[in-house]
Amino acid sequence: MERKKFLRYLALSPLIPAAMKLNALDNLTDSFEPSEKMPALFIGHGSPMNAIEDNRFTREMKEIGKSLPTPKAILMISAHWETQGSFVTQQQLPPTIHDFGGFPRQLFEVEYPAAGSSWLAEETRKEAQLHHVDLNDQWGFDHGAWSVAINLYPEANIPMIQLSLDVNKKPIEHYELARELTTLREKGVLVIGSGNMVHSFRYAQMDGEDFNASFGHDWAWEANEIFKKKILENDYQALSNYGQLGESVRKAIPTNEHYLPMLYAMAMRDDQEELSFFNDDAIAGSFTMTSFKIGE
Ligand code: ZN
Repeated sequence: MERKKFLRYLALSPLIPAAMKLNALDNLTDSFEPSEKMPALFIGHGSPMNAIEDNRFTREMKEIGKSLPTPKAILMISAHWETQGSFVTQQQLPPTIHDFGGFPRQLFEVEYPAAGSSWLAEETRKEAQLHHVDLNDQWGFDHGAWSVAINLYPEANIPMIQLSLDVNKKPIEHYELARELTTLREKGVLVIGSGNMVHSFRYAQMDGEDFNASFGHDWAWEANEIFKKKILENDYQALSNYGQLGESVRKAIPTNEHYLPMLYAMAMRDDQEELSFFNDDAIAGSFTMTSFKIGE
């Protein structure tokens, strides 16, 4: 019998004198491990249709969702919320925002009714001491957040808040802000960055009918490999100075809002902590779905 189980047995057994039980209960409390450290994720979100489609990417997201320990709450950093200054959503019932056009009505009808979390909003504010974070009640869940969350947690039973992308911060400052939030993992919080590392509409090209078919320009594959190597090496300096990483990377990041959520996720990693890639593929020429998970 494991020690913890044995102590619980001892504490509950009617045959054991009360004094010994008290002692056993003390030991039981002592033997509780600190709450499990949550993994962290970067998810390539791709098309908003991933919220309602069954495809190889959404199936993998669903598998990842099932494999995770149950979080107390989610802190989501989506490419689709940019602000002046950093904000967290504070509503109890954040609205589902349909921030896109030209998609079927079915997608506009999707609601993601997860609760917000004033606890997590406060914790995030408290932890971010060097980089100020404010509360916001004007946003909700944008499609970068809910199209991912609906695959990981279809029942919307985990409270979620969003942290915005401050347009005035340099990439390294986004990383540093995220570093201040790593302790949230020990408080049961699942931190998720949602974007696409390679994301350029300018060079988009369809290979047949299927938007999600595996197809990338040479430079897109090259940029993807550079990113993966630097991520594995934990080279956040190089990834923050992505302008120095060559022509393929410059093409991959015409604007950085889909790239920055990756820096938030990467910042959650301890030295040498396990990191595994999934959905590692290019689509429509100039996008990659490459995602990663940090931790067990
Ligand atoms: Zn997007």
